Amino acid sequence: MSNNENVYRPVQGKTYSLFAEGDDSEHYYAEIKRLVDGFLKLCPDEKRLLSLIQKAGKKPFLMGLKTTGADQKTLQFVRETLKQSLSIYTQNVSNHLNTLSLAAKRMDSTLATSEEKYHLYMLEIELVNRIYREEFKRSGYKFALIAHCLRDFRPGCRSVKGDIEAVCRGCTEGCLIRLGSVLLEKYGIEPYISVEMDQERLFRRLKQEHSSIGALGIACIPELAMGMRLCIRTGIPPVGIPLNANRCARWMSQAHETSFNLEQLEDLLR
Ligand code: SF4
Repeated sequence: MSNNENVYRPVQGKTYSLFAEGDDSEHYYAEIKRLVDGFLKLCPDEKRLLSLIQKAGKKPFLMGLKTTGADQKTLQFVRETLKQSLSIYTQNVSNHLNTLSLAAKRMDSTLATSEEKYHLYMLEIELVNRIYREEFKRSGYKFALIAHCLRDFRPGCRSVKGDIEAVCRGCTEGCLIRLGSVLLEKYGIEPYISVEMDQERLFRRLKQEHSSIGALGIACIPELAMGMRLCIRTGIPPVGIPLNANRCARWMSQAHETSFNLEQLEDLLR
């Protein structure tokens, strides 16, 4: 591992951890890339595969998308393969769901994300990165929204209000938002700390202000997948990197430090 070793302590999330039982999240990235390569042999049209897996989590099944018997066979194979390959990263989902009240499940669909949906979101994130990466890189204006829970919890964060969201002031050497921001700026991407709840309004505003725009997200798996969908609906090419584990106060009774894979972020941007 690199000199970022100190920020990559393996952590368990409320529902998932990309470390699984290992020392880093590299195995996760190797596995999800291998899976997508395999699924694209069955369904070589990346956008078609993306539509299929986005609809797979919906009820009634495949609403609004015409599918063939071959599509349904592909989906069945995808679901079974994902379950076998990715369950190691989502070991805490069922315990979490068992502790959620019916009211909590109704009020917050993100908290109620099923294990199968986590697997489909993991696949979706990797597929979206492949489909939109070049378009994102060609965009005239590129910005990133980094989950606020990545702030270093030791000092009082010195971030300040920026023109679209909060901006890191780099007060703490090992803070992952500082490290991520430095890397993003190296690739011409404006980094912001995500605190805005109404992202749809933000994206529509930015779309009006810039003729060519790309978005990068760093967030927990369900939030990142939803953010990518919102970008695509708004006409903004998205890419993103999931948090290594979901540990913010929304998921746990209080916020705990988490991380993301900086090397994978750089691979995505090269
Ligand atoms: S380095 Fe940036 S994000 Fe991290 S605590 Fe300091 S100002 Fe906040």
